[in-house]
Amino acid sequence: MKIDGACHCGKVSFTALIDPGKVMVCHCNDCQVLSGSPMRAVVPVMLEDIDLRGEPKRYIKTAQSGNKRAQVFCGDCGTPLFATAAENATSVILRLGCVRQRAQLSPKLHIWHDEALPWNQDTQGVPTSPNQSGFLAPVPAPR
Ligand SMILES: [Zn+2]
Ligand SMILES: [Zn+2]
Repeated sequence: MKIDGACHCGKVSFTALIDPGKVMVCHCNDCQVLSGSPMRAVVPVMLEDIDLRGEPKRYIKTAQSGNKRAQVFCGDCGTPLFATAAENATSVILRLGCVRQRAQLSPKLHIWHDEALPWNQDTQGVPTSPNQSGFLAPVPAPR
């Protein structure tokens, strides 16, 4: 599926090819803080399947495991855009909130559900994972 989107101020925009079957919601503590919301909807995209315009900023987050992830956002309006490996990235995890077609992209899996807020446990029958096992990894989109 072809999608497009932009940050709130419009200085950074993108088009991408995604698999709607890979849409996930992440409840991890980092996503809660970094998104400023109780959970974050995302979809993974292969790097070759996203075309980015504009110059976003990066914040490097170090996970408990020591793994470094770049959090990419608009430096002007602060909209979170995607996360990616700090080095040698092959894919990005796009933030659904900045995708124009987001209303059509319902989640297929809730990850890190063990960290979901007590009042945000209900996933309406969508499968959950207590951590990131079952993560729906990206595959190259058909062309
Ligand atoms: Zn912006
Ligand atoms: Zn998360």
